[in-house]
Amino acid sequence: MIAGGCRCGAVRYKVARDTLPAAYACHCTDCQTWSGSAFSMQFFMAADALAVEGAVTEYGFVNPMRRFSVQRFCLTCHTRLYNTNDARPWLVNIRAGTLDDSARIDVPLHIWTRSRQPWLILPATAECYPEAAPIEALERLATLTSL
Ligand SMILES: [Zn+2]
Ligand SMILES: [Zn+2]
Repeated sequence: MIAGGCRCGAVRYKVARDTLPAAYACHCTDCQTWSGSAFSMQFFMAADALAVEGAVTEYGFVNPMRRFSVQRFCLTCHTRLYNTNDARPWLVNIRAGTLDDSARIDVPLHIWTRSRQPWLILPATAECYPEAAPIEALERLATLTSL
């Protein structure tokens, strides 16, 4: 079982899976703004594999692809934990940095690399897309296992 949670500990989650999936990084400017950092890091998982305990608050918006995205945050500390999207309701997108074991997560795929921070050198083996990647490429990561 994989577990994670928010910064303050009020929200905890479990994912019904024994191995850490691989994650992807998004270097788009929205993710830079939202994370207050260089990129966001997340992985897709079957929605019915995620079990959440604790009070979450939601923020929904229409994204640039004109799909409705709902972001979930801890109600207390506002850590962004996961989101869903009506384009793929069978999946959740979990923020990889909220995993208890986040230090072991593998990030073989990078999207929106054309807006990545210029000082950031990506591994030569990374699968990179200048803009969005096909959903199949992102879903494939869930079949991989991190170190
Ligand atoms: Zn919290
Ligand atoms: Zn992004």
